[in-house]
Amino acid sequence: MIELKSLSKHFGKSVVLDGIDLTIKKGEIIVIIGPSGTGKSTLLRCINFLEHPTAGEITVGDLTVDVNRASRAEILLLRRRTAFVFQNYALFANKTALENVAERLVVVDKWPKEKAYQRAREILERIGLADKADAYPASMSGGQQQRVGIGRAMATGADVILFDEPTSSLDPEWVEEVLGLMKQLASERQTMMVVTHEMSFARDVADRVIFIDGGRIVEQGPPSEIFSNPQDPRTQDFLKKIL
Ligand code: ATP
Ligand code: MG
Repeated sequence: MIELKSLSKHFGKSVVLDGIDLTIKKGEIIVIIGPSGTGKSTLLRCINFLEHPTAGEITVGDLTVDVNRASRAEILLLRRRTAFVFQNYALFANKTALENVAERLVVVDKWPKEKAYQRAREILERIGLADKADAYPASMSGGQQQRVGIGRAMATGADVILFDEPTSSLDPEWVEEVLGLMKQLASERQTMMVVTHEMSFARDVADRVIFIDGGRIVEQGPPSEIFSNPQDPRTQDFLKKIL
């Protein structure tokens, strides 16, 4: 359902993604780990063209895009089938929680306002923030803001939600409520790719853990294997430092 073929990204002379091949099934929960600066964020950003990949092919559902031949319309379609949750929430400060969740449905997906707001209300209900519908981000806790960020991604009905370190900006007291919401989504088999340092989340929730180093997939497998019996010295070294 999601397939990357030889996906590469160069920034000038530096090769940040070096031919990533990856197939993800519908409903699969993928956790991506790896040292700082190895291309984890770039990988997620390339999948929905927040960064334009240098070469390769991306398939989401029945849409396959050769990144060098992608038309504007294809890129837009690919973006609509993916949703992004940012480390810093990236909410509109001048919009309420309800408006933040409804925004993309109205602006990108061209839903009638009424229908979009109805959907946004249902989402706020599901994420336990119905009482914050009219609150602005500045008046919400970090955990609540990130839950709105996730709600916004949920509202789109995207084929895959891409999470880039969704709990890294949070005060420790808010981390669990955000991970809890992600676990809820995982139990509903929402396809997810999650870059995170939360190894307990990876252990409990991931179907597959992917270790990236130097813009390449070094090793991947079920969390039980990757954490207890890593094969590659680079994976072993990385896990020694963080576990
Ligand atoms: P971290 O764990 O610190 O978030 P990461 O694995 O997410 O790291 P990326 O943010 O994907 O790493 O960055 C990979 C490399 O690409 C880094 O060397 C970074 O400096 C470089 N890079 C990222 N974005 C750009 C850009 N827009 N222009 C130039 N270089 C970039
Ligand atoms: Mg990153």
